[in-house]
Amino acid sequence: MAPKTSKKTAFEEHGYEFLGPPGAFFISFILPVVVYIFAFACNDVTGCPPPSLLQPSTLTLAQLKREVGWPAEGIVGLFSWEALLATIGYVLVNAILYRVLPAEQVQGVKLRNGERLNYRLNTFYCHSVMLAVLAAGTAAQGAHFIVWTFISDNYIQIITANILLAYATATYVYIHSFSVKPGNKELRELAEGGQSGNILYDWFIGRELNPRVTLPFIGEIDLKEWLELRPGMFGWVLMNFVWMAKQHRTFGYVTDSMVLISVVQALYVVDSWWNESAILTTMDITTDGFGMMLAFGDFVWEPFAYALQTRYLAHHPVHLGPVYLTLMLAIIAAGYYIFRSANSQKNRFRINPDDPQVAHLNFIETKSGSKLLTSGWWGVSRHINYLGDWLQAWAYCLPCGVSGYQILSAGSNAPGSYVMNDGREVIQGEARGWAIPITCFYIIYFAVLLVHREGRDDIKCHRKYGKDWDRYKTIVRAKIIPGIY
Ligand code: NDP
Repeated sequence: MAPKTSKKTAFEEHGYEFLGPPGAFFISFILPVVVYIFAFACNDVTGCPPPSLLQPSTLTLAQLKREVGWPAEGIVGLFSWEALLATIGYVLVNAILYRVLPAEQVQGVKLRNGERLNYRLNTFYCHSVMLAVLAAGTAAQGAHFIVWTFISDNYIQIITANILLAYATATYVYIHSFSVKPGNKELRELAEGGQSGNILYDWFIGRELNPRVTLPFIGEIDLKEWLELRPGMFGWVLMNFVWMAKQHRTFGYVTDSMVLISVVQALYVVDSWWNESAILTTMDITTDGFGMMLAFGDFVWEPFAYALQTRYLAHHPVHLGPVYLTLMLAIIAAGYYIFRSANSQKNRFRINPDDPQVAHLNFIETKSGSKLLTSGWWGVSRHINYLGDWLQAWAYCLPCGVSGYQILSAGSNAPGSYVMNDGREVIQGEARGWAIPITCFYIIYFAVLLVHREGRDDIKCHRKYGKDWDRYKTIVRAKIIPGIY
């Protein structure tokens, strides 16, 4: 019998993340339900939340179904072939543009085998074309442009289509990952954290590090990089514009709060397309495998959970006025400045530490050969870029105000109501405040995401830098917010 070895496997060194299989189950199967709950709980039938939820004593399932606009056909009504084909078509259009438009060829970071993968980057061009087509359609048909009406009319079924695409993609890459052979010419590698042997967990976290598919005509696509910026980030911008058009169709105008959120989020996203190569050094690309976690984030979470505020405003228009608008813009400007300048500083330093813009900064040498900045933004806290990101989240949510609304029938003549184009009226009434968990969900969720991400990055850096990382932590003590956390 072979002697027992104490050498740990790559996975044992890595360990479970996201609470292991129970966490994988929660994110893969409960979060999709949460997305439906958000969709039904804030609706254009009765309100946000539906009135019977505010009167639990009179609550019945039948009434709740009526109030949330549950499909007449029952649960099968959550799906439609039309929505599925449209969603696949939307992804294919992006893939065709990816193939035909010019692209920058960039190399990724070094893999474990010392080689680098090539990436074909042209998200900015593809999405500029797609946005130009949407702008032309809107110029021609206004808020009734078919893309806007189709998505808002088939919202629930489009959510289902995206959930199915996430499950299908995660399952495909999981099965495909078993064909990764040591020393293969395509530079395919397994992610260290994705080989627990637990099927659910590995399917969720992702076994293969950089799965790629080769499609007829379109050629090779790096699924992780491609899906993160395309259906994911584009979907977020797209959904905001869908709700802006819906607000215009419903009330005949677009509010300053709607414009603010849609435009600043679009700028944040366009920034990620413009600086596309920066994604190649993020943890998602360098360390995480590609499985259900990222596929769900790209297809479902980003488009449908990040655009909850504009969806709310589509049904309850909030007018900020110049003072609040300026305040929100100031918060966004401060957050964006910290986020962008901290990320750029590190990217610049990683590419060329002698770059005149970063050459003056202090750093420590590490045994791994990489240097760690100890002054500039990365001397203020270990993830000051997260603080910048989180600050912006506040300005995305606060414009919804003390949220909650009720929809009354036409002719109610409720004082202070907003009148819809079809005569129905919207007031806050008893619902005021009850929708805050939905409209401010992003602030809380993003704080949890960033704190958790900081913890994961700490483990990753400790694994990479060992005692040098501990030394760095004694120099830069704050994790995210200087003096607080
Ligand atoms: P970061 O850009 O924060 O990079 C972390 C890495 O930077 C570390 O793993 C390490 O990698 C390197 N590093 C750490 N400290 C130093 C230092 N002192 N000097 C030089 N290099 C250092 O990682 P993320 O991928 O988490 O975030 C990227 C951006 O994306 C952030 O701004 C974040 O807020 C944003 N984000 C947004 C999300 C959203 O949903 N909107 C979700 C997640 C992230 P190494 O040493 O190996 O180079």
